[in-house]
Amino acid sequence: MHGLMMDTPLLITDLIRFADRNHGDTEIVSKTVEGEIHRYAYREAHARARRLAKALQALGVKASDRVGTLAWNGYRHYELYYAISGIGAVINTINPRLFPEQIAYISNHAENTALFFDLTFVPLVEKLAPQLKTIRHYVLMTDRAHMPARSAPGGSIPNLQCYEELMAKQDERFDWPSFDERTAAALCYTSGTTGNPKGVLYSHRSTILHAYGAALPDALDLSARDAVLPVVPMFHANAWSLPYACTMVGAKMVFPGPHLDGKSVYELIEQEKVTLSAGVPTVWLMLLQHLAATKSKFSTLDRTVIGGSACPPAMIRAFQEDYGVTVFHAWGMTEMSPLGTVGSLKAKQATLSKEEQRAVQAKQGRGIFGVEMKIVDEEGKDLPWDGKRFGNLLVKGPWIASGYMKGEGGNPLKDGWFPTGDVATIDPDGYMQITDRSKDVIKSGGEWISSIDLENIAVAHPAVQEAAVIGIRHPKWDERPIVVAVKKAGQALSREELLKFYEGKIAKWWMPDDVVFVEELPHTATGKLSKLTLREKFKDYRLPTA
Ligand code: AMP
Repeated sequence: MHGLMMDTPLLITDLIRFADRNHGDTEIVSKTVEGEIHRYAYREAHARARRLAKALQALGVKASDRVGTLAWNGYRHYELYYAISGIGAVINTINPRLFPEQIAYISNHAENTALFFDLTFVPLVEKLAPQLKTIRHYVLMTDRAHMPARSAPGGSIPNLQCYEELMAKQDERFDWPSFDERTAAALCYTSGTTGNPKGVLYSHRSTILHAYGAALPDALDLSARDAVLPVVPMFHANAWSLPYACTMVGAKMVFPGPHLDGKSVYELIEQEKVTLSAGVPTVWLMLLQHLAATKSKFSTLDRTVIGGSACPPAMIRAFQEDYGVTVFHAWGMTEMSPLGTVGSLKAKQATLSKEEQRAVQAKQGRGIFGVEMKIVDEEGKDLPWDGKRFGNLLVKGPWIASGYMKGEGGNPLKDGWFPTGDVATIDPDGYMQITDRSKDVIKSGGEWISSIDLENIAVAHPAVQEAAVIGIRHPKWDERPIVVAVKKAGQALSREELLKFYEGKIAKWWMPDDVVFVEELPHTATGKLSKLTLREKFKDYRLPTA
């Protein structure tokens, strides 16, 4: 017997219609590429999204067409999120930090028919345009006054149009169409370390369910009382759903544009009374440095979500103890929309010491309802949730990819589960802890050493700015760990001092075999340590112990 409930489709435009109705005067504030502050509220954002939907149709964009963006976090990008998906087309947010060849590959593979881009990217698009085979319309996300002169640079971009001019030709009388909730809405390519990027294709249904999950109190804890600053870019896994989940709850949104340095982020947090922010550890490192250098404090910031790579316990300590900001450590992947787990405490942990609480928070968190997890050994056998045994982490759920755009890479699933490529433990309370990327785990004498654990200890040393631990070939043990570290400016630290710092914190056989100091560590386009580049650089490195 079927239930007798309405079967209304879950559509992305319902979010912005709801926000318009219920939170019409709640602000969306953007720091623009030009550096000015732009403000409006949900009602106007919705009106402009409707105008934009008509402008897209006037350009000939039809249902299922893909439309690319190369853009920062800002109000026009937000309008594109809603207008493109809202007419049944697919927004392909491209990461501008990728190599130009990868950007061209992605746009051609997605078969984008139009490309919307911020002023910053004019030189990039000029260079790329001859390789972008499917784009019929190039739209610069600015007004007439900021358009490049037709004969000057920018003139080389064929068919270059102005966003505000396209908008000005339309009015806001537009009814969002209704369609199957499984219709594709957004397309985001993973920056795989090997091979070409692969497209993850989100649906309206997966996006709405994920936004519900993201907003929960034990996930990102969002409400109409919040002012949220997504530092995480809208071109990286939909800014962790914030443009959708904030709209769902009617939170004020604050977009930083390209201004991501510590000073700019701090000033925006203070000016706009931001209560919650979200980003990768590298950005927070810049912010913490700025705070320390200027002896500043936050007046409204209450929580910050840190994910994308492991958040070092030292960073959790600094935010919570020095600045009174609670850290939610989060884990996920582009293939998971992206949220999988978020770390927050349970009632029974309220009486633990601060140090014990931080140990819980340093884990990547508990699963959100909607994400099922399991860990398995090399043979695929289930491992217990004892917080000790670690194995390959698999996930399943309605906002997790079942395959890639155009079937690239074949069927990724194993018996209906998505293999994350991460290695993790899960404890009896359901807290998952990533010990490594399966490719990064260090295999020594048949046992595994967690590179993340060793990195966390290194960055807890007061003289260390950043550290990466990689495995180096060893004739007897197969692989042994070395620490590659960047010292804080003006700090002295020797190899022996850092090794001594490990004593008593780890099992003896986990002790790194060497320390190498460098000026800078390589990062990927999404801000993660690029261990691939590091391993390449150290491939001929000889261990003192070998
Ligand atoms: P991406 O699809 O680019 O977001 O990358 C996803 C991968 O980033 C995951 O599979 C993890 O390896 C890594 N990752 C994301 N969040 C965390 C975290 N909090 N701790 C450790 N690794 C993380």
